[in-house]
Amino acid sequence: MEFKVNKTEKEWKEILSSEAYRVLRQAGTERPFKGEYTDTTEQGVYSCAGCGLELFSSENKYHSGCGWPSFWGELESAKILKKQDTSHGMIRTELVCSNCGGHLGHIFNDGPPPTGVRYCINSVSMKFTKT
Ligand code: FE
Repeated sequence: MEFKVNKTEKEWKEILSSEAYRVLRQAGTERPFKGEYTDTTEQGVYSCAGCGLELFSSENKYHSGCGWPSFWGELESAKILKKQDTSHGMIRTELVCSNCGGHLGHIFNDGPPPTGVRYCINSVSMKFTKT
């Protein structure tokens, strides 16, 4: 797939930490309860750590207890891509940044109202900006 932000592996390695590269570019998962934003409750916006596209508002965040930052919805402008993921012997829906193709996390059907979904996102895939 073609993305607006298109870099070589070498270029990504230059701008991302090794952990962010592993998660964003190699679809890795950070350890639960260890991420920077799991319990963040401040007001602000969460953007893609790869390209800066705004993804979530703190208004969409809730405490799911799953160990990763959880959101019940995304910013409309983000248009996060949902892709079937059959890795690790599970059928899941992967969330991918629509601007750079970075792996963000997965979406599950056990979220709260009004959507009933849980966006389960790696902290390292995002950058938080207070508003
Ligand atoms: Fe991105």
